[in-house]
Amino acid sequence: MSESNNPRSTSEIASYHAHVYYNPATTRLEAERLRTWIDERFSVTLGRWHDVKVGPHDQAMFQVAFAADLFSAIVPWLMLNHGTLSVLVHPNTTNPRRDHLVNPLWIGSPLAVHGEKLPEDAAAEQPPSPNTHPIAISTEPPLIR
Ligand code: ZN
Repeated sequence: MSESNNPRSTSEIASYHAHVYYNPATTRLEAERLRTWIDERFSVTLGRWHDVKVGPHDQAMFQVAFAADLFSAIVPWLMLNHGTLSVLVHPNTTNPRRDHLVNPLWIGSPLAVHGEKLPEDAAAEQPPSPNTHPIAISTEPPLIR
């Protein structure tokens, strides 16, 4: 049950993360391709490669940070293009543990998340400056080249 009689407002969401998980031995190339596709299409912030487990994450992954108003563009695109990879999409509010454990969505197969490593009170993460290189406005598949 909610602690309050009122629903939470989406204005709590300062930004989102999508964590793209991969297996360094078997699906790193697939993750590299997805990362390139994202880089070419969306104005987001790509985090560095984590080939070993880090923080609450139970598998190698890289992070995609994006502004709240990009959700409706990138999340459906990830639904169609994640291939065999698992993707955790979570809001960034002032409660990172709840963001990851209670309020996320999964694209592909869900994985374990070690929420005990996350605080229950923190500053909500604003979207960082994008570092991608979109070359096309369209989110259609890339041309063969
Ligand atoms: Zn995150």
